[in-house]
Amino acid sequence: MNAFSTLLLFPFQPRRVALAHARTPMLQVYLIHWLGVACLAWLVIATGSVESFAIAFRFNPAWYVLGDLYAALILMLLAGEAVFLAVATLMTCWCGADEPVSESWRFAVRVSWLYVAHLWWVAGGVALMLHAIAHWDLNNGNGVLLLTTLALVIVWSIASYVRALTVDRPREHRTVDPLCEWCGYNLSHLDIAGRCPECGRPIAPSVADGTRRSINALYRGPANFVLTCGLAVFRSPEPLLRSITTGERSRLLVKTVVVSLAATAAAGGGGFVLAILIFRGLPDPLRWLFFFPIVALLIGLLVAWCYFVLASGAVSLIGLATSRRCRRNRLNAAFQLVALTSWIYPLWAGVGTFTLTRVRSDRIATVWFYTNLALAVVYLLICVRRMKYLQYANR
Ligand SMILES: [Zn+2]
Repeated sequence: MNAFSTLLLFPFQPRRVALAHARTPMLQVYLIHWLGVACLAWLVIATGSVESFAIAFRFNPAWYVLGDLYAALILMLLAGEAVFLAVATLMTCWCGADEPVSESWRFAVRVSWLYVAHLWWVAGGVALMLHAIAHWDLNNGNGVLLLTTLALVIVWSIASYVRALTVDRPREHRTVDPLCEWCGYNLSHLDIAGRCPECGRPIAPSVADGTRRSINALYRGPANFVLTCGLAVFRSPEPLLRSITTGERSRLLVKTVVVSLAATAAAGGGGFVLAILIFRGLPDPLRWLFFFPIVALLIGLLVAWCYFVLASGAVSLIGLATSRRCRRNRLNAAFQLVALTSWIYPLWAGVGTFTLTRVRSDRIATVWFYTNLALAVVYLLICVRRMKYLQYANR
């Protein structure tokens, strides 16, 4: 696939483009990426976004004289490059299957570099909004239309990125010796009726057929899955987590994460609006019709995005920490673990945004922030403690 069709097709067929470049040399993908960056820079200059920004937010025009403008653009581009790499590293888990971690990371970097093709649409949306704030009258519904457009573009953009990352790639399968389910000891040439020399547990359950069944075969549909597994993962996690085949990506768990994030967006936006309605009263009908749904949508999107990044960060940390021993990708195992616990997000987001509206002073805001941070740490610890049940699964 050549550079131009890559950049043009990525927003519309992210999976096809990601697959086409799964084995393209990194340098070549980087050159395509820079072609995209050059086009993006041209778009920013051509639409006069910087001037609109200055007018809209009443900045002193002196700061964007020609020299400063280009210096600022170059600085932005360099910072942007660091962001592409950071996002790729954070998102490695979402493309990880049964492959070495380094391979997953390279694929994530490729997708992140190609994502520049989507930034034209986002930049175009932002440019339109800045232009509108600077030059249009926003009181007659234009503002709502504009915010909706921008929100939809951002949702589309995130969805394309995730679709490209999670595409099923052809991968190498390893055949390995039978290992003990409990400690990872190599059981080849040992009597099945005996016990593991390392941990003393019976060998038979470890080598039996169906020791690790795919969770897809056990549960059907995210709703059933959340109801039956969601609680089990906290109450009695061991049998459940030992039934997960971590060598393959579970479509059910990917769906569960998507459903959880959608519910998080709804709960985050809904909790905020509900709190305003309860504590500040019903606003006039026009504002209620147009303003509130948009505010709820934007807040919900922001909250869902924060949880998405939190989940990815958690997966990256857990997966990388436990990948040391076998050097195979445990990120997939970590992803499944986080997916199993993702039903907590909507509850957390709903309560979090609801209580956010009661924050009236800096001190309470600080307490609110650290409470949420502590909850994130507790969540991470719960996941790490469950990781040991998956320890020898992804081999
Ligand atoms: Zn053992």
